[in-house]
Amino acid sequence: MTDFDTICNEVQKKKRTYRPMSPEIVLTSSFYFDDFNEYAEATSNEFEHYVYTRGTNPTTELLEEKLAKMEEGERCKVFASGMGAISATFFTMLKANDHVIFVNTVYGTTVSLIRYMERYQISYDIVNSTDTDVILSYIKDETHIIYMESPSSQKFELIDLEAIAKVAKQKDIITVIDNTWATPIYQRPLVHGIDIVIHSCSKYIGGHSDIVAGAVISSKQTVELIEEKGFLYLGATCSPLNSYLALRGLRTMPVRMRQFTKNICTVLDYLSTDKRIKKIHHPYCGNAWQKQLAEKYLDGYGSLFGIDMVDDDLEKLKVFVNALQVFTLGVSWGGFESLVLPVFKGNNQQAIIDRGLDVTHLRIYVGLENPQELIEDIKAALTIAYGK
Ligand SMILES: *Cc1c(COP(=O)(O)O)cnc(C)c1O
Repeated sequence: MTDFDTICNEVQKKKRTYRPMSPEIVLTSSFYFDDFNEYAEATSNEFEHYVYTRGTNPTTELLEEKLAKMEEGERCKVFASGMGAISATFFTMLKANDHVIFVNTVYGTTVSLIRYMERYQISYDIVNSTDTDVILSYIKDETHIIYMESPSSQKFELIDLEAIAKVAKQKDIITVIDNTWATPIYQRPLVHGIDIVIHSCSKYIGGHSDIVAGAVISSKQTVELIEEKGFLYLGATCSPLNSYLALRGLRTMPVRMRQFTKNICTVLDYLSTDKRIKKIHHPYCGNAWQKQLAEKYLDGYGSLFGIDMVDDDLEKLKVFVNALQVFTLGVSWGGFESLVLPVFKGNNQQAIIDRGLDVTHLRIYVGLENPQELIEDIKAALTIAYGK
């Protein structure tokens, strides 16, 4: 009798002899041991051995090695999402009575997270300024983390990372930056003295709008602490399949980033001449101070930006969004496709104003389509909504 049950279920223990050019997707939850000694050694140090994919996995580890190198950090831990990385960092680093400073218009869900953490006696301040002295004036005895985005979500304003990191170090405050917009290709904050870099790999790193993943990069000591606490306890493990797709995204990332810079500058050169647009939020269109910071910190430009309209009629804004043909209405960004996202959702005007934004504020993402087509699309939609 053929034993189908055993044939279909036996563990594959044959030693491999092939050497694939492309990294393997090690899609396994657990790893087996040849004998007791190997088991005992591996489980006594799960970070150095493969035991269980909630801890370490070879495909994910390869991605971690590459991201750590790109950011010039000692070590990286990859997570199931950018928010997984952010919440693991807060969970690991904060305790009751700590205070956090949020600089600028930080990513909305990150702000919601720190608001939620008030119930754990963690307090925070949101500083709506790029002025170093103003930012530093919010430091209290209890301040434990300064959390930054540079450029920030929505307003895309830069801050002086070195000046902030210098004072924070003197006061034993941990500096954290979400570097998703610039990517390590255009900005390496650890080199400027920032302690922890966070990424949403769902954006430029994945690059194809097909994965959700995140990463934390820092010193070996800091990443190991986050790995032991926030990573293992909260369990936001990246699937090896998504790690593979992120590795695949990295292959073309330098090429894509160069193209994004070209495309965004072409589109902004046009938009800055259009009289129907009141303000463009992007470092390329910033004031002298922002240009100076861009010169110091950025090696190129990301292609996500904001615009405010001259005409504040929100019905016309809806018409504009609906009239776009090449740009697609949708969340997220960093993929191949151009996107548009109004902050106005139908009845949230007060919330928009409270965040310090214009009610007509639109987030636009320039993808890899022909920038001339993108300009024509915006021009045509502006004319339909606001007239010539
Ligand atoms: C998308 C995004 C996040 C959240 O990342 P997820 O992978 O969606 O969890 C955090 N910060 C910035 C700047 C983002 O754009």
